Amino acid sequence: MGKLAIVTGASRGIGAAIARKLAENGCDVVINCISNLGRAEKVAEECRAYGGNAYVRAWDVADYDACRQAVQEITEQLGTPDILVNNAGITRDGLMVRMKPEKWNDVIQANLNSVFYMTSLVGAQMVRAKRGSIVNITSISGLHGNFGQVNYTAAKAGVIGLTKTASKEMGSRGIRVNAVAPGFTETDMTNALSDEIKESARARIALGRFGTPEEIAEAAAFLASDKASYITGQVLCVDGNTAM
Ligand code: NAP
Repeated sequence: MGKLAIVTGASRGIGAAIARKLAENGCDVVINCISNLGRAEKVAEECRAYGGNAYVRAWDVADYDACRQAVQEITEQLGTPDILVNNAGITRDGLMVRMKPEKWNDVIQANLNSVFYMTSLVGAQMVRAKRGSIVNITSISGLHGNFGQVNYTAAKAGVIGLTKTASKEMGSRGIRVNAVAPGFTETDMTNALSDEIKESARARIALGRFGTPEEIAEAAAFLASDKASYITGQVLCVDGNTAM
């Protein structure tokens, strides 16, 4: 039987690529999204083509009760997850001096609190089972800061702190917790940027191009796997060497 993986925000972009890669590696995959069930079902079909099971589950990872209910149902129906990838995320950009608390709170809730909710809930199951691997998708913006993204960079820096603490607290139970920090990656999130911003970003990347979701997925799947059995508490940048 394959390992069971939960990937949040897996209906498109980086999360979808991670779900496909884990399925290719033999995992059964729970594909979470918030609303895009059609796209999530398509990703599930692609995952099933590798021979394993794939399940679509919509819930809001920014809502603690929804996470609790989802984790309980998944555990009861499918067993204790072996892998959790906290990938779901949003942007609500704006300059700090003009940013209203609502924009700040939305991003902290969706990008940081969600990672605490899912890691604590699934982590509790993993601790009981004495096995598991958690991969959190942060961002190079969380390491360096980024103009117009005070909410996003604070959340992503928080995810790095959470990753390091969780790896210390759960390491003695054999659970590894790592993070992947993507640079600019070709998804809906970056498609929304103006051509001018995309060009200036490209100029700061040593490899001269944005990454693909599949390139991020390779790193996440590696950290999730037993091949990374002595790696925990780490942040792996997959950014073509971007100068922020
Ligand atoms: P994306 O294409 O915009 O996709 C976002 C995914 O997250 C979708 O599946 C969306 O579901 C889901 N989602 C959003 N809010 C959710 C919520 N509250 N509950 C459950 N699911 C939710 O994003 P992406 O570019 O692939 O980014 C994925 C992750 O990588 C994010 O954490 C992002 O911050 C990080 N990242 C991205 C880049 C980049 O350049 N793209 C760079 C660094 C880090 P629906 O389809 O249902 O809306």
